[in-house]
Amino acid sequence: MIKVKHISKSYVKHKALDDVSFTINEGEILGFLGPNGAGKSTTMNIITGYISSDEGSVEIDGTDIFEDPAAAKKKIGYLPEQPPLYNDMTVQDYLEFMFRLKKIRLPMKEHINSICEMVKIADVQGRVIKHLSKGYRQRIGIAQALLGDPPVLILDEPTVGLDPQQIIEIRRLIRDIGKTHTIILSSHLLSEVQAVCDKIIVINHGRIAAEGLTAEMTKTGHSTSNIELIVEGRRQTILSLLEKTDGVKKVTDKGECEKGCYEFTVESTKDIRRSIFKTIARTDFAILSMKPVAVSLEDTYLNIISGKSEEDKGNVSDI
Ligand code: ADP
Ligand code: MG
Repeated sequence: MIKVKHISKSYVKHKALDDVSFTINEGEILGFLGPNGAGKSTTMNIITGYISSDEGSVEIDGTDIFEDPAAAKKKIGYLPEQPPLYNDMTVQDYLEFMFRLKKIRLPMKEHINSICEMVKIADVQGRVIKHLSKGYRQRIGIAQALLGDPPVLILDEPTVGLDPQQIIEIRRLIRDIGKTHTIILSSHLLSEVQAVCDKIIVINHGRIAAEGLTAEMTKTGHSTSNIELIVEGRRQTILSLLEKTDGVKKVTDKGECEKGCYEFTVESTKDIRRSIFKTIARTDFAILSMKPVAVSLEDTYLNIISGKSEEDKGNVSDI
């Protein structure tokens, strides 16, 4: 349904996107997850044809956004980070205005009424936008994106600034719309993409750092390259033997767990269980336990984004 191939984008001094490629199949809800400044909005602005990319291509349902932007844009409804609402208009006037702007050829009143029913704003259709809550305003933004019945919806951080109850309702609405649409939504919250999306792409510093099905990625996996180890023997000797084992990146001494027995965690670039076994077997020490460390998507995500600048680190607690 959407094919993004090798897109890159530089701003004056800064590469915002570096060779990003991914595909979304019809009917999927894809979560674009990354910290602030990762490149989420830039990607969405390129997919929707609002800005150009320096390299690469984007295809929406077989139409190239750069070659035939008008046809491609008809297939996409877009809710930008700052929804373009006209605060002094009523909801009805605004949607009629956007309907005409998009040159939609459908019966206007019926079309707008059915969208308002769908996003649950029918009760405020006659109200002036500036008097409505942020939750309603976000729904109006989604209604605007749904005008013209595009098969694809692109939602940039759709729950930012909402209160917890509004967040739950907007997520529910997105899942509902997702039953009949292909959706890409961006978020800096792991919990959000886990709750709403079928697939997750993690983006950081303008590159895709991880991707997969939500169910697969959130399953707590085991890593054979990170292990927990209990060894009976001389603490310092064990530590230096482990550190010298081929492939080992880092050894953490977790202390004495039973008399004369020490616990360590070993991080490495490959499966090093056999080499550790052989190393210790050459001494008169004994391995009492060796087990893989459990890794969750949260661990993986924190690892990916921990490489970012100090000033951004505050956001990690939002996960
Ligand atoms: P996100 O939406 O993930 O927070 P953005 O796509 O908005 O990230 O930004 C990616 C990077 O590009 C950031 O470092 C941001 O400062 C930079 N950037 C975004 N838009 C512009 C622009 N118009 N001019 C210069 N730099 C920009
Ligand atoms: Mg953004």
